[in-house]
Amino acid sequence: MAKIPVGILGATGMVGQQYIALLADHPWFETRFVAASPHSAGRPYKAAAAGRWHHKTPAGEQVESLIVQDANDVSRAADAVKRGDLSFVFSALEMEKETVKTLEEAYAAAGVPVISNAAAHRWTPDVPVLIAEVNPHHAEVIPLQQKARGWDRGFIAVKPNCSIQSYATPVWALIKAGYQVRRLMVATMQAVSGAGYPGVPSLSIIDNVVPYIGGEEEKSEQEPLKIFGAVKNGVIETAAFPKISAHCSRVPVSDGHTACVSLEFGPEKPSIDEVKRLWAAFSGEPQSLNLPLAPQRPLIIREELDRPQPRKDRDQDKAMAVTLGRIRPCPVFDLRFVGLSHNTVRGAAGGGILNAELLKAKGYIS
Ligand code: NAP
Repeated sequence: MAKIPVGILGATGMVGQQYIALLADHPWFETRFVAASPHSAGRPYKAAAAGRWHHKTPAGEQVESLIVQDANDVSRAADAVKRGDLSFVFSALEMEKETVKTLEEAYAAAGVPVISNAAAHRWTPDVPVLIAEVNPHHAEVIPLQQKARGWDRGFIAVKPNCSIQSYATPVWALIKAGYQVRRLMVATMQAVSGAGYPGVPSLSIIDNVVPYIGGEEEKSEQEPLKIFGAVKNGVIETAAFPKISAHCSRVPVSDGHTACVSLEFGPEKPSIDEVKRLWAAFSGEPQSLNLPLAPQRPLIIREELDRPQPRKDRDQDKAMAVTLGRIRPCPVFDLRFVGLSHNTVRGAAGGGILNAELLKAKGYIS
């Protein structure tokens, strides 16, 4: 079967590079179009990424020889779609929010579906914010999004902020089993790669913790509610619970966001053993559809008292699994645990690719 040609907007950045690395051996998709800022445009990818390629293995000759396009020029991708040389793009752009919003809409309007990592469209009511194991059914708003805007081929689907991956899926597994989660306190310790490249200055983060990441606490508190929401009459209705309070800090870790979480349940409270049983047994559509990048087990439990740890656990199951540990009672709420996920894989490019696999399996892209 011929592979589906895909593009990456923001291909030279931290997340864009992760897309290129993960797509190198992908059975369905092949990177055939790369775009970035005007500064990188017009040069072969190898030259544009020189000195800032973060992976141990090179991007590969085929990608290295692609000429980087200016991501602001939508016509390049639109023409490639018309020629049959491009099916859709992953967006990993780091630009001002309104600019990204307008640009992603322009791609969709020109017939280029956009599967995005950027925050710009996460609160657009008819744009699904997908975690493939949690709310795959939200994809059903895509045809309505297209109809409302007069887009015949293009659409926008996004993934959530990287910091919520470590706790949204385990919390969803409990909600899905019928437990109401009323309140949630979370303190995240977020890796420096989450800030892109060059990101946080080394003198600000070595031997230090920075207890502020702009906009991150609001995203951590609000995005899970859209993801846990129901689709009613073609609209995603935001869930009322859990009420979330988040502290987000930048820590001197290269990759892997850690979340320390306390949960308060509604009238019915699961035992610790029941929580562990539900998490160990949890799986979703990516697993039942056998999607290529789906982790075999989305939630992995470690019983050691000092796990999960970013260095030891972030790469579990293609770096797509969430590792959970320190599952214990909470003297203030009901349950405490620590969650860990790889921010540039599960929390960014890997999550985006899994969403694309899901949308292909559901027939939204071809
Ligand atoms: P990054 O390393 O700073 O890369 C940014 C990319 O955007 C580069 O390819 C850059 O091209 C391009 N770009 C910047 N200004 C542009 C312009 N004016 N026109 C066109 N392209 C432009 O950022 P990142 O960490 O990869 O993040 C990318 C996106 O993913 C952001 O929206 C971020 O919020 C989101 N995200 C990141 C993570 C993470 O863990 N890092 C996780 C989840 C989501 P040049 O190289 O040519 O400048």
